[in-house]
Amino acid sequence: MFKNLSKKCSLFIISFIFPCILTSCSKNLNIAAKDIQNNNTQVINKEINIPEKTAIDASIKPPIASSLNKETPKNVLNNRTFTGPNLKYNNKGIPVLMYHSIAYEKGNELRIPKEKFREQMCFLKEKGYTTLTLNELHEFFVNNSPVPEKSVVLTFDDGYVDNYTNAYPILKEFGFNAVVFVITNNIDNRKGYLTSNQIIELANNGIEVQSHTVDHEKLATLTYNKQLETLKNSKFFLENILGRKISYIAYPYGNWNENTIKAIKETDYKMAFTTNGTWSDKSDGIYTLDRVYISANFDINEFHRRLTNRNYK
Ligand SMILES: [Zn+2]
Repeated sequence: MFKNLSKKCSLFIISFIFPCILTSCSKNLNIAAKDIQNNNTQVINKEINIPEKTAIDASIKPPIASSLNKETPKNVLNNRTFTGPNLKYNNKGIPVLMYHSIAYEKGNELRIPKEKFREQMCFLKEKGYTTLTLNELHEFFVNNSPVPEKSVVLTFDDGYVDNYTNAYPILKEFGFNAVVFVITNNIDNRKGYLTSNQIIELANNGIEVQSHTVDHEKLATLTYNKQLETLKNSKFFLENILGRKISYIAYPYGNWNENTIKAIKETDYKMAFTTNGTWSDKSDGIYTLDRVYISANFDINEFHRRLTNRNYK
């Protein structure tokens, strides 16, 4: 089974990229059925060590918002209408995969080496997965618009620069959409994080950029007004830079309370994600959707298990 799939993937790869990369893809996909790692640990409170704030590099100039707003945003992703067999409706769930950094760091399971990430994307491609946009996911949940049975959403939290340098070329190679939830205070301001020019390029090329608050606050510890402030300011910041509406957010640490839901509605977000659970499901509630944690410790069998078994825990 894996062999046939590998062949298909190989053909795809031969057509588009260097043969040397083919070796790594085939090799990984031919892995015999090893013991599946049952590591279900949810790392909801653990975040990557963030370097101290560095002085702003004077050569990095944030774009002037007013001039950017005059341009029509490029490549705003339109909702697709899915037809034909093998569709599903919102009585079923969707795996929304949660990544952070795509780079190797010894012992840090939140940083996935790019070779491993590429192996996972290759796997999605050869299994025939469709990567949904957040608007499509929203339509699915709210209006029961059907989506392919094999649908997945790829999300990245925090806005690490390696999402641009390492993940983006791989996503492009396979023609996948994805979402990066950024901490807006870090944009142009902190080493290791995305710049405004990078998020503009991402947003213009099929990678949605959405909010992960202003300063990675633990929302439930803030007053209602402080929650409003970080939800509103991160939204405005991104709307100014990207010239398009920001409607989605991922809660830092997956942390929220009743005030968060009130503030989310007040600030006109349409959908929000936690860091817990398994597949996203209508029953989660549109402002507290589950996501599927992906660790650097998982092999391709565990990736497959989480992707195909909605009750993988
Ligand atoms: Zn985060």
